[in-house]
Amino acid sequence: MKKINKKYTKLVIIGSGPAGYTSAIYAARSNINTILITGPQPGGQLIKTNEIENWPGDYDNISGSKLMDRMLHHVNKFSIHIIHDIIESVNFQNRPFELNGQENNYFSDAVIIATGSYTKLLNISSENLYMGKGISTCAICDGFFYKNQFIAVIGGGNSAIEETIYLSNIAQKVYLIHRRNQFRADKILINKLYQTIEKNKNIIIYFDSVIQDILGNKIEIKQIKIYSKQEDKIIYLDISGLFIAIGHIPNSKIFSKYIDIKDNYVKISCHHNIMKTQTNIPGVFAAGDVSDHIYKQAITAAASGCMAAIDAEKYLNNNYK
Ligand code: FAD
Ligand code: NAP
Repeated sequence: MKKINKKYTKLVIIGSGPAGYTSAIYAARSNINTILITGPQPGGQLIKTNEIENWPGDYDNISGSKLMDRMLHHVNKFSIHIIHDIIESVNFQNRPFELNGQENNYFSDAVIIATGSYTKLLNISSENLYMGKGISTCAICDGFFYKNQFIAVIGGGNSAIEETIYLSNIAQKVYLIHRRNQFRADKILINKLYQTIEKNKNIIIYFDSVIQDILGNKIEIKQIKIYSKQEDKIIYLDISGLFIAIGHIPNSKIFSKYIDIKDNYVKISCHHNIMKTQTNIPGVFAAGDVSDHIYKQAITAAASGCMAAIDAEKYLNNNYK
């Protein structure tokens, strides 16, 4: 796509999840001339969930898209310029920093990386072949297509349990396949899963089981092959939909030439503990799941977005006034 012009601002925030939106609110209140770039998924990961139970204040279970819409409205209340673009590469060597998007180039004195993470895949044969043709990473987006059908969910964390519960109200049968014999998910969700099993009677759990292959006619999935460690045997399950919910990988690759990264997570706390969100490059900060290998919650992403904006303000005041 043709690039139309160059934009300079004091601060660019990359990402429109809870971390990006929160940092935008704080930057605006500090009167920092700021651009927020939404990226490929405006609203971030939370738009994939229909029920949030742990966002303080919203005790009546708000949907992810509604919460993110409210955050967007909150940002829009201020004079933050929101741009729909995807950053493809950066140059953090020179000042101002340069960010190259699909639509525009951006120049700024400070940057907040709030690019979150993307869904991890199984890395098995046929996964690419059936992506979008039976394989999905979002129950809310695609569940409807499997009404009254047999489907499987892979994973044992909060996402997999939530998706299984959600899908059991749509599909005829849901196989939940987890590689260990204990779920990683929160206790409250595990209890909810067992209550749903009691009520809907259409969820079958395969613990200690790994998926080995996805079989079909190249147009749609027909079966999955799993190995049950408990029974030491191969099992074939007839399904038409496969939901992969095995975790996420931070969106950090485009920064790796300049920014210190460990296990795909952007390293922060690089400024003698004074600025908790600073990366190894002064003026470049990171917030949310892209730099958090422990908590990975909406509230922690939002909180670190707040910290990054405060750190960025301090940095700009110290260096550009
Ligand atoms: P994200 O929400 O991942 O947002 C990243 C943003 O960066 C996106 O807007 C994306 O478009 C943008 N971006 C990425 N690459 C680029 C690029 N190259 N250029 C420009 N922009 C880019 N947490 C809870 O606390 N409660 C829940 O109930 C809950 N439910 C969840 C349900 C599901 C199904 C999933 C997947 C996660 C859930 N989480 C929940 C976790 C929560 O969604 C994340 O912790 C949170 O969204 C992280 O926020 P973030 O802003 O760091 O990143
Ligand atoms: P997660 O917590 O990392 O769980 C991933 C699950 O997939 C684990 O059970 C893991 O197994 C399994 N897994 C990983 N790699 C696998 C592979 N190659 N093959 C098979 N299974 C594999 O990921 P998540 O569930 O997506 O959650 C991500 C973050 O978002 C978490 O911090 C979570 O708390 C948050 N979140 C919160 C909510 C909520 O609050 N309601 C909802 C959704 C997500 P092991 O257990 O053996 O490692």
